[in-house]
Amino acid sequence: MIPVLSAFIALVVFAWGLDVAALDRGAGSLPWLVYEQGLHLSGLLAIGLMSLAMVLATRPVLLERPLGGMDRIFRLHKWAGILAAVFAALHWLIEMSDDLVKAVFGRAGRPEERESGGLFEMLRDAGEEIGEFAIYLVLAMIVLSLWKRFPYKFWRHLHRAMPVLYLLLAFHAAVLAPPDYWTRPVGLLLAALLASGTVASVVALAGRIGRDRRVRGVVTAVSSPAPDVTEVVCLFGGEWRGHQAGQFAFVTIAGVDRFEGAHPFTIASADHGDRTLTFQIKALGDYTRHLASRVAVGQAVTVEGPYGRFVLDRHDRKARQIWIAGGIGVTPFLAWLDELRTRPAEAPQVELHYSTRGAAADPFVTRLQSLCADLPSVTLRIHDSATGASLTPDALAGARTAGQRAEVWFCGPRHFGDQLQAGLRRAWGGRLRFRREAFEMR
Ligand SMILES: Cc1cc2nc3c(=O)[nH]c(=O)nc-3n(C[C@H](O)[C@H](O)[C@H](O)COP(=O)(O)OP(=O)(O)OC[C@H]3O[C@@H](n4cnc5c(N)ncnc54)[C@H](O)[C@@H]3O)c2cc1C
Repeated sequence: MIPVLSAFIALVVFAWGLDVAALDRGAGSLPWLVYEQGLHLSGLLAIGLMSLAMVLATRPVLLERPLGGMDRIFRLHKWAGILAAVFAALHWLIEMSDDLVKAVFGRAGRPEERESGGLFEMLRDAGEEIGEFAIYLVLAMIVLSLWKRFPYKFWRHLHRAMPVLYLLLAFHAAVLAPPDYWTRPVGLLLAALLASGTVASVVALAGRIGRDRRVRGVVTAVSSPAPDVTEVVCLFGGEWRGHQAGQFAFVTIAGVDRFEGAHPFTIASADHGDRTLTFQIKALGDYTRHLASRVAVGQAVTVEGPYGRFVLDRHDRKARQIWIAGGIGVTPFLAWLDELRTRPAEAPQVELHYSTRGAAADPFVTRLQSLCADLPSVTLRIHDSATGASLTPDALAGARTAGQRAEVWFCGPRHFGDQLQAGLRRAWGGRLRFRREAFEMR
């Protein structure tokens, strides 16, 4: 994520830099030129990153491969949005500081503003007013997004206003960008960003995000393997295009909660060509807590997907394979094992670690044991924190064979993943490849 955002920012700064290099030095005094270029650069970065966030919000499947999966695209979207708001705030502060620059350095030396007159001048005035108003709303939205206690289901509806705010800010950028920008690299880049962000906003406002990947089906079985886990099995029509083991889908079950949108869940079963998908859903919030009592056989269900690159076929056959599941993060591994059972001869040598808070009452322990029973190349290790047998990076790192590359596939709580990744990176350095699925979008 950091390399992508850095490269994007570098591209915008480079295009702006070309423009600054061609600047007529006599166009104004140094303080005013710094003020003006600061305003331009912060504005370019703000609208550029906002355009990127808008494009990523459309769930672009084509970008899954280069960006590493839809979960990473969501995180990139989130951070592009946060950074855009930071630059927008900076842009606003610079704009507000013109009286200060005037008081300290005087009005002399301020670059001349070209008066175009007429309609264009009116559009620029409107652009200024609209930009200021939209920036306040974007900043409020970012605060709500970062305030995790604000319920997701309300935030989701407020977040739908973002394409409208984007269009307002795109108008602001288009009418207030210096007119001579449009014939230069910086203007061409700005035009491309505004065009792609505008198309993405229209797609979002028309409700077309993910529509081509939506398929209707019916719930065929419901059970509760544990008090806080609901297993839902669904059958879909012929339009379901199949999935790779480890992918996820957005699920909407009719009649469960009309105010809730689609929730992302991993498809916890392999694709057996029968258009049947199994979901294992843990009670982690208001929707998932009430699911067990509200879902029943025969209810209509819609899935949108499949998405994700946490897939079995990507594992590196030359590296030592370590698969780590924490709690409900076991679901992609259930799908992987289900898939491997259909072709056991191709199963790689794997150490599968499952970390649980109470093995005795955990239905996934027996499920994993039965799936692994047919797969001799998969060594299952259960780590039960209730008995003090937690999985630590030191325990994993100790078992390393010298010189061997290791590929870790991790799905589970974020802090647990961070701890393991940092500990293993310290021990194994560049020989480690740590791949993880994020179960968080906001
Ligand atoms: C790629 C992926 C795969 C997942 N696979 C599984 C799985 O196999 N089994 C499982 O039990 N859980 C899975 N989750 C987590 C699951 O989506 C959330 O636990 C669930 O949506 C929480 O909803 P809630 O309303 O009960 O909780 P809330 O308390 O309302 O939300 C808790 C958090 O869940 C996320 N969330 C809530 N609603 C949505 C939504 N509509 N869309 C996106 N994110 C939302 C937000 O980050 C929110 O802050 C997965 C998540 C992702 C991103």
